[in-house]
Amino acid sequence: PTAPSVMTANGHFASTGDSPGSEKYEHGIQVVDEDKVFNPNLMSYLSIQKVLPAGFNYHLISVFGSQSTGKSTLLNHLFGTEFNVMSEMERRQTTKGIWMAKNRKEHADDQARRMAENILVMDVEGTDGRERGEDQDFERKSALFALATSEVLIVNIWEHQVGLYQGANMGLLKTVFEVNLQLFLKDKTSSPRSLLFFVIRDHIGTTPLANLQATLVQDLQRIWSSISKPSGLEQSKIEDYFDFAFAALPHKILQPEKFVDEVTKLGARFREGYRDPKKAAFHDQEIDGGIFLPEYHRRIPADGFPVYAEGIWDQIVNNKDLDLPTQQELLAQFRCDEISREVMVAFDVSITPFETKQADAARLGKQEALVGLGDAMRSSRMTAIKDFETEASRYHKGVYSLKRSELLEKIDTRLKLLFHGHLNALHKAGVDSFSTAVTMSVKNGQKKGTNYDFAQIVEQEKTAALKAYEKQAQSVLVEGAAWSEYSAELSLFRKELDDVSTRLRREEMRRLAARVERWVKSRLAESVGLEFNKLGSGRGGSGAPESGEKPSEQDLWDRIWNVFTSTVGDAETRFTERAASFDASPEEVEVGLWRLRRKSWGVLRAKIDEEVMEGNILLKLRENFEDKFRYDEAGVPRIWRPTDDIEGIYTKARESTLTLIPLLSRFRLSSTSAPPPIDAWIGNAPASVTPADEEDLTPIGGVDEDEGKSLEEEMTVLGDAKRQDLSVRFKKMADGVYVEAKRGAIGGITQ
Ligand code: GDP
Ligand code: MG
Repeated sequence: PTAPSVMTANGHFASTGDSPGSEKYEHGIQVVDEDKVFNPNLMSYLSIQKVLPAGFNYHLISVFGSQSTGKSTLLNHLFGTEFNVMSEMERRQTTKGIWMAKNRKEHADDQARRMAENILVMDVEGTDGRERGEDQDFERKSALFALATSEVLIVNIWEHQVGLYQGANMGLLKTVFEVNLQLFLKDKTSSPRSLLFFVIRDHIGTTPLANLQATLVQDLQRIWSSISKPSGLEQSKIEDYFDFAFAALPHKILQPEKFVDEVTKLGARFREGYRDPKKAAFHDQEIDGGIFLPEYHRRIPADGFPVYAEGIWDQIVNNKDLDLPTQQELLAQFRCDEISREVMVAFDVSITPFETKQADAARLGKQEALVGLGDAMRSSRMTAIKDFETEASRYHKGVYSLKRSELLEKIDTRLKLLFHGHLNALHKAGVDSFSTAVTMSVKNGQKKGTNYDFAQIVEQEKTAALKAYEKQAQSVLVEGAAWSEYSAELSLFRKELDDVSTRLRREEMRRLAARVERWVKSRLAESVGLEFNKLGSGRGGSGAPESGEKPSEQDLWDRIWNVFTSTVGDAETRFTERAASFDASPEEVEVGLWRLRRKSWGVLRAKIDEEVMEGNILLKLRENFEDKFRYDEAGVPRIWRPTDDIEGIYTKARESTLTLIPLLSRFRLSSTSAPPPIDAWIGNAPASVTPADEEDLTPIGGVDEDEGKSLEEEMTVLGDAKRQDLSVRFKKMADGVYVEAKRGAIGGITQ
């Protein structure tokens, strides 16, 4: 679409479309054109005029009055604007639609005449003109627009029109009043006031201004009482909505110098003012200082004005009821969203990289430390909120605070996620380094061979891990954010450290158990081996069976059982003592000891099996027999002579040794003739035993009943077949020794 063009005073066309620049706004900007289209470039105009960042520090005034009453001329003189003026030659309407221009005289050198900053002047198309005929529609719409936006309405009027109640200008005022009531119907509580500033033109001077003023006030009251008021507002007075000010200007053509003087004086009144609370404001004399009272201001921040004005115009054009509070809320929503988006841009710049990094790290399963995260979170959150507050707080309070909390929530949702992601990484990294540190310290302790204190290592590393976690977590705290808190995560971390400690302690217990088992094994290898070796000595320091004295061989198992239980007892003591330094629980110790007893029994059983292996045991029996056969009671070696009862001695020795075979076949205590109380000795499985604790245990007959192996079987060292085989072999071997002895005896004689 082509940009709308406007004709300038010189007949040149100035584009209102692209290419921003002040030159095209020489005559101000046509806010609404003759086709009632709102100009989309108002924002750019206010930006060029540097009004946009002014906040509330700007003023809007509009001028009203009949066609060709010198309105544009007045504005141009007052404000240095260049609104088009009807040329003296062709009497046709020049101002079309609604124009706006910024005051160019605000920087008057004279301090006394200095005007308020950022005055925006709207020149509204005159009515009752030839061009628009009887069409009152535009007049009504532009009056509504001016009232909704302007603080001051200048009513331009010829002196000779004053008192002519039926005059066109009075018709206009009637419209203004009606429209005003319509406008503020929706907003009865906070109806803003406006100033009606009457400027009487071509004042001859014969009638003093005060008299003209009185006449005008009378007329205004009459008009007000004549208009039909909406229900609820029947009793309302004109002063409820308007203040009045008056000025008279001399004839511009007849008294040009005086005209300029008076206009200059008039201009000086466009300053900030305040109301004397002691005086009822109705006449301008009662307003001190300038005419701009704070209560006239529509409280639309300058940067929101273009959107607000467009919204207002849109409603007016579409003949909708103008609802200013709603408009202000809509504007606030629009602007707050815009400001919110702006501050989020800066927020994104500083926060998105962290989010990306964290997501990448999570995807790759590594725990990356996000350096500078805390600072970035704190500063970006604070900056975003502060910037938003500065810009947006000027808008509708309810909307603003709602949008502020929306923004905060948006920011906090993301920061919270980052925060928890960070805590998560801290947690994982902390647990990893804790378990590594403990393992390393244990290894070092083992290397030194000292009795390192496992519990102390764990305690030290745990303290260090918690301290590191807290330090890191604290560095990402964001003051004032409800989510900025990590106590639950800290206790979770502490709990996991405890779990890891328990696991490491259990491993350490296993290592201890293995060490103690090895010790048991080597001790038993030695002591049990010794007991079996004693079998090789047939005399063994005790008498023959028939002497009534119990032979030492007969209590072999008692001695083995004793040495076994005392060895394991020692081992249990070692285990218990060492486990105490781990801070192991009584349950853990109980399970460890139970396992130790079971495993030790297995060790003993294996040792016995080794001792009774065919070759080993046959050798022992032979030694036992030879000892008994070849030595006399005094331990002196026999020299066989033919007269000796070789056969008798042989038989006795052989029978004596043969008694060992049934003895060896079963593990029985001589005192009770029963198997050792292995069941009671091992004890019941502790209640806290886990399947993992039982995994590597071998079943024991008579203890583990489910295994289908009886105690008798568990205690059987040699089966029947082996036993018979052993007897046969032994006898053969003994026979050989006997024959040899016999031969030796005979040979001894022959020699
Ligand atoms: P507008 O239509 O109300 O904006 O009026 P203009 O400013 O275009 O002026 C219309 C005509 O009135 C022009 O020819 C001006 O020269 C003339 N004019 C301007 N100011 C005065 C004044 O103070 N007195 C008289 N008598 N004529 C004026
Ligand atoms: Mg004009």
